[in-house]
Order: sequence, then structure tokens, then C-alpha cells
Amino acid sequence: MTTLSEVKTALKKYWGYDEFLPLQERAIESVLRGRDSIVVLPTGGGKSICFQAPAVTLPGMAIVVSPLISLMKDQIDSLTECGIRAARIDSSQPASERDRVIEQVINRELKLLYIAPERFASDGFISFLRRVDISLIAIDEAHCVSMWGHDFRPEYRRLGRLKESFPGVSVHAYTATATEHVRSDIAVQLHLKDPEVLIGSFDRPNLVYRVKRRTNTLQQVRDVLDRHRNESVIIYCIRRADVDELCAKLIRKGYRAVPYHAGMSAEDRKAAQDAFITEEVDIIVATVAFGMGIDKSNVRAVIHTGMPKSLEHYQQESGRAGRDGLEAECSLFWSGGDYGIWKSILANTESDQARSIALSKLNGMYDYCTGLTCRHRALVNYFGQDLEGTNCGACDVCLGEIASMDGALEIAQKILSCVVRLHERFGADYTAAVLSGSRDKRILERGHDELSTYGLLSDVPKSTTRDWIEQLVGQGYLEKVGEYNLLQVTESGWRVLHGEVVPTLIKPADKHVRVSKVAADSWEGVDHGLFEALRSLRRELAMQRSVPAYVVFSDAALRGMARLRPASVDSLLHVSGVGRVKAEQYGDLFLDEISRYCREHALSMDVAVPHRVPSLRKGRSTLNMARQAAHGLFARGMSIDEVARAVERAHSTVVEYLVSYINKEGLTEASPWVDERTYDRIADVVASLGSEPLGPIYRALGGEIPYDQIKISIAVLKNRQQ
Ligand code: ADP
Ligand code: ZN
Repeated sequence: MTTLSEVKTALKKYWGYDEFLPLQERAIESVLRGRDSIVVLPTGGGKSICFQAPAVTLPGMAIVVSPLISLMKDQIDSLTECGIRAARIDSSQPASERDRVIEQVINRELKLLYIAPERFASDGFISFLRRVDISLIAIDEAHCVSMWGHDFRPEYRRLGRLKESFPGVSVHAYTATATEHVRSDIAVQLHLKDPEVLIGSFDRPNLVYRVKRRTNTLQQVRDVLDRHRNESVIIYCIRRADVDELCAKLIRKGYRAVPYHAGMSAEDRKAAQDAFITEEVDIIVATVAFGMGIDKSNVRAVIHTGMPKSLEHYQQESGRAGRDGLEAECSLFWSGGDYGIWKSILANTESDQARSIALSKLNGMYDYCTGLTCRHRALVNYFGQDLEGTNCGACDVCLGEIASMDGALEIAQKILSCVVRLHERFGADYTAAVLSGSRDKRILERGHDELSTYGLLSDVPKSTTRDWIEQLVGQGYLEKVGEYNLLQVTESGWRVLHGEVVPTLIKPADKHVRVSKVAADSWEGVDHGLFEALRSLRRELAMQRSVPAYVVFSDAALRGMARLRPASVDSLLHVSGVGRVKAEQYGDLFLDEISRYCREHALSMDVAVPHRVPSLRKGRSTLNMARQAAHGLFARGMSIDEVARAVERAHSTVVEYLVSYINKEGLTEASPWVDERTYDRIADVVASLGSEPLGPIYRALGGEIPYDQIKISIAVLKNRQQ
């Protein structure tokens, strides 16, 4: 009998993980007990370990069914890197390669065999497998078996025969799709016997969600990208033309980006995908055609430049960020027009029932965009779960990046009465123009500059008024009707006009973003420079071995190394995500790089870390990490003011953080915080007066240069002298 503790030993030995993630333990127990199961975990929840870890521990070989070759390849690469024998059989393979795998199966050399679903059409193949000792059968992406899921695959229907063909072997289904309908369909279609159903939390605490109305796509996208320099980012656009256009613009601005959509040749698409996965480029601009079968664990941001058609889609697409459990950002830029586009597409849906389901999903998505509640909560509520606590600390609402307006009633009344004055015969743009007091010819010709509501909101930009109109539509006080989306006041809108209800309006978009606690936590104690150095080393190794970078080591493992700074193989093995085989294979190279870096930067090694490194997966820790977060932001060249806002600390405190950052990194340049001329003037004075005390230096400079600038310059000067 294989026990859970044996599986745990394997988890440490092969993957380098000390503990199971939530639900993994129970999922593995069902495997060990031989009871069929359905495991529902969100993307990044760690589903693969649920069958891989028991597969290496149990006698015999596990069968894994997976819908896509790219997914299989990726998992097999990862397993091989960990020192586990795994291979695949699919229809695209040359016969010679397939024969070699079959030989490995016969010789009992494999712990896991990945098989494409269509292979089970062959009776010969099934009887071949029946001669082998099978430990368990895992069905990955099991929702593909259901017509109610979003990726129905007819080949998956054949998998129902597995239960009969392999009596005595338990079958385990894994999916990220949560609906009840899909779940029961999985059980029925796969002929599962009294399956244990395990459903994990759908919250992804490491993702920071932001939603903004689209005002300037390029600029808004760049704002996000600039927070993720040299990191992997997926940008989704609704239409192919938008993909090409946005991608070209980004390339012109110097970003390393590739396009991806169904209009490209299969070859070009593959090249684009490979470039993204091997990190030859940072950014992929794509339609939703991209992503299925992408296991890349270190995507640090997913940007939507348009509203998806349902929260299921949004959850799935945005869920491709941060699979490694480290912080990642999901930003959505939408406009009311997106709703219109989807609605007109849905109008062509044949069956009434399908159309009304699709429409209610679209409305759910729209509510999310216009809503003002915590994004994490809104998402899990939609999937029928709830969230603990009141502030998630990881969405624009909870971070206080968007706030509701005082005086919303009055503003709403101005807008609604303008709609009434316009006899409900104009759209949102026109109404906003009238309210802003625009001198547009059309307005003057119609005499709408004579209306009592003309120019009532001229004190805010027109785009803000436009935004508020959209919010009122979102909350059902206004309605867009007809082909031209003319605004109409609804019944509840009239109640606003009578002062009986008060709508919520969001303040004009605030430029700055705050650092979420998840980000601060996962950088705790991590030396950024070292992390970057290790990333380059990883990229080189991945290129040499032609595997994706994250297969060599995950970002989480690299951060662990840059935090612990191990001096020996033994301490390297303490880093989460470093298993024995990888330590043997790459250990020396990484240890050399770490010790070189630490020598050059006078850093101590084998740092004792708090017994528990903050883990984003175990809920939200409460350590105050403002200093670390600030260091990370300075590393990205942010100004003192920006950092002060981001970490919500006083200017003087942040200057102190900057000085400690300069000391730690040994910086010899004061820019961008002090300009060159100022720095030179300070250096001259310090040369004659010494670096202490500051008072005389300040006075010698005529009192023109703030103390902060002097402190920063002195820190840099000291580094230069060393
Ligand atoms: P899913 O298939 O559910 O999307 P994966 O199996 O790809 O998730 O796992 C997501 C990430 O979590 C991977 O980088 C994986 O190595 C990591 N992971 C899985 N189990 C653990 C664990 N017990 N401890 C730490 N990290 C884990
Ligand atoms: Zn929140």
C-alpha cells in the first residue's frame, strides 16, 4: 500500500515542494484509495500534481488523457526535467517515435503515458494497454467531454469505455470549469462510479484585477506593460484587425511583441507562440484563439483591450496569468460599444434558449465592468462561492484606486435631465457633448446650446461625463435603445430624478496604481538584481535545451534563490521548487551565479529566512513589506513621488527607502532621482566640506537644493568612492 507520506516524499524529491496546495492532499487520497474522482480547481491550482505525484509513487504506469499535443509536450518536458520517465502517444508522431514509446511501455520504463483521446478509438490499442499494469487513469481538461463546457471535443466521448476496458483501475477527472451541469456531465459521460467530487476555491488571490473604461487603448496598455518590463504579458483584442494594429504600434514603440490570430497561417502562429514561450519576445497580442494549451507559468499580466462575452471567458483568459502563484496583474479595458458588438453577434444565435443564456452571461460580464464591488468577490460570487474578509487587497476597488463620487445624486440628475431635455432622441456621446458645453456644429445648429442643461458639467472633461453615462446605464438608470443606442431614462432613472434613490458614480480615472500586498509579499527579501541575473541564466539554459524557460525553474523558485542566496547544494535544496534531479543538473551553475553576484554586491549568503516564506497560496499574509515593494519600484526607475503613492508612505520615509536601496545595490548613478547638474554641484560641496553634517552642505548650496536630493547624492557618492 502506498501512503500519503510516501507521495509527500516524492513531492519533495522530484518537485522540491514541501507541502501540498489546498485540496491536492484530498485529491491524492482518492487516487490512493482507488476511488473515482472529479477535481475542480482553478487554473494554477496545481491539478497536475494530483495525478503526477501518485503516479510516480504507485507501482505501474499511469495513463493521462489530454486534449492537446502542446499541453502533453509541456507536461512531459516538465516531468523529464524533474527526473520522471514520461512519454506520449498521439496521431501526429512519426511511426518510429511511436514504436519507441511502445517499447518503453512494454519494458515498464514509464511512470506516465500521455495519450491523445482519439487513440482510444482503436480496439487494438486498448487491448495493448490492457496487457500493461495501469496505476490510474487521469483525464485532464475533463470538461471537454461535456457539450455544456466551452471546449467540447467529440473524441472525449469515447473515454466512457475506459471504465469498462480497465475494470479495477480508478478514473480521475480534472477541470477548471465549475458549473454543476458540466460536473454531472463528466460523471455520466465517463461512467464514473460514485466519484468523490472535490471543488477548490475559485479565488486566485495572487491576481490583481483592474477594470477601466477604454479611453486610449495604446496608452492604457503601455501603462500596464511599463509595470512589467522584460516580463511575459498576454494582450487580448476582440478583433484580428485590432491585434495587428496594436501589435504594430507596440513594436514601433520598442516593445518586443508578436501577433497571434486565426487569420495567420498555422506556421506563423506556431512561430509566434514559440517565441512567446521561449521568451524571445515578451508580449503576445492575440485574439481568444490564443491560449488553450498554454501552460506558461510565469505570465505576469493579461490585458484585455475589450470586454469578453462572459465571465467564464474572462476567468479562463485572465487565469493564464500567474499560474506559478506569484503576483500577476489582470487589467480589463472596456467600452459600452463592446457590449453592443457582442449583442449584435448574439442576435444571430439560432435557438432562443441559447441566445437568452448567452445574453444573460453577457450581462453578467457587463455588470462586472460597471460594478463597484471587490473584483475577487464579484468573480467568485458569479461562480457560486463566497470570499472571506472584506478587503482583498488585490483589486482596483479594494486598493482604493477607484472611489465613488460625493455628490453622485446631483451629477446623475444633471445627466438624466439632459437626456429628458433631448427628448430621449440622442446617444451617449452627443449627450455628453451637450453637458460639457461643446461648440460642436451639430449642437449649435439644433439650438441645444439653449437647453438649461447645456454646459452643466463643463467643469469635468467630456470623457468623464461619458464614463458616468455608461455607469448609469450599467446600473439600469438609463437604457440604450434601438439601432442607434439612443439614451432613455428608465423607471428607476425617474426615481433618481425625484431624489428617491442615489446612484453610485466612480471618480474620474486616477492615474496611479498602488502596489498590492500580494506583490509586496512575494518580493519579500528577494534581491531584484540577483533575480534578474538568475533569469538570464535560466533563459540561456532553456535555449540550449530547447525547453521553455519556466520548465528549467519557475519564477517562484528563482525568487526563492534570490531570497535565500544558497551557498551549497544542500541549502539550494531548501528552496521551494528545487528537486533533487534539478539540483544535480543545474545546481552548480546557479550556485556559481549566486556566489558571483553576492561577492560583487557584498551580500551575505545562506540567509536565514523566516520559517515560512509568505505564500500567496495560503491566503493573505499581513507583513508590512513597503520597503521591499519600494525597492522593486525603484529598480524600475519610478520617481520618489510615484513610489510614495504606490506604497502609501510619506515622502521622507520613501527617501529613506531609496537611500537603503542605493546602499544595497551599490548604485553609482543618482539619476533618475537627482539630475546630473544638481548631483555635480552637491559632489563639489561634499568634496570640500565632507559628507556630514548636512546643514553646512545645504547652506553652502544656497538653500536651493532640498535635503532629500543631498542625502541621495551622498549615498551615491559613497558607492563611487568604494
Ligand atoms: P493547473 O493545471 O491546475 O493549472 P498546475 O498543475 O500547472 O496547475 O500547477 C500550477 C503551478 O503550481 C505550477 O507551477 C506547479 O509547479 C505549482 N505547484 C503545484 N503543486 C505545488 C505545491 N504543492 N507547492 C508549490 N507549488 C506547486
Ligand atoms: Zn477586492
